[in-house]
Amino acid sequence: MKIVFTIFMWIIGSIFGSFFNVVGYRIPRNLSIVKPGSFCPKCNHSLKWYELIPILSYIIQGGKCRCCHERISIIYPIIEVTTAILFSTSYFVFGFSYELIIALVVASFLVIVIVSDINYLIIPDEVTFFFCILMFIIKLAKEGILHSIESLLSGLFLFLLMYVIMLLGNMIFKKESLGGGDVKLMFFVGIVIGPILGMFSIFLSSLIALPLSLIVYLKNKNNVIPFGPFILIATFALILFQVDNSGILSLFW
Ligand SMILES: [Zn+2]
Repeated sequence: MKIVFTIFMWIIGSIFGSFFNVVGYRIPRNLSIVKPGSFCPKCNHSLKWYELIPILSYIIQGGKCRCCHERISIIYPIIEVTTAILFSTSYFVFGFSYELIIALVVASFLVIVIVSDINYLIIPDEVTFFFCILMFIIKLAKEGILHSIESLLSGLFLFLLMYVIMLLGNMIFKKESLGGGDVKLMFFVGIVIGPILGMFSIFLSSLIALPLSLIVYLKNKNNVIPFGPFILIATFALILFQVDNSGILSLFW
């Protein structure tokens, strides 16, 4: 039965991924995410339902618009596959549980941040705000008022910590080191995993981002890579591998 639900979560994930493409692309431009429906940016041809099947439509159409034969960005199916992998893996690890909800919310935020960071190098405040509220409500429903206030305080703590890191970075590198979006993102991370894992996620995301940063830096010293996706990749990994505070603390003393 588990395999059936894993496939089910794969399909759900690809559908959500398709939607996150729209969210990550339109919200930063202040466009509605419901109207108009999807269309080809080249010829404005509105896409029919059979052109909107996640992953499959792209493969069947050979990555081109059916109408004008313009190439469709490979980003779209990559995002759909990524979301499908994140959703099905989360289900595979957690089954239908509270942890699954947390993992799916973090995965969703991660994918939207990847899309908008790739396209515009920003994380829209509305999106961060939405996910903070959503995560707070989930915590409130499961863990009660005291724990959820604690979550908010850890969000505030990590936000301030990241802000200080940003100021230090700006002083040392004499240019903008972190985006404001990355700093606000830490509020969400704090709500989800608390202060200790949150601090570790900053460390872990730097490690994950390091190889890519080096490549980008060597190619062009002025290029920037968005840090936001790496913070959420680290957060998602900590959740998926069920790392807890004692595991982190035992690493250090
Ligand atoms: Zn077209």
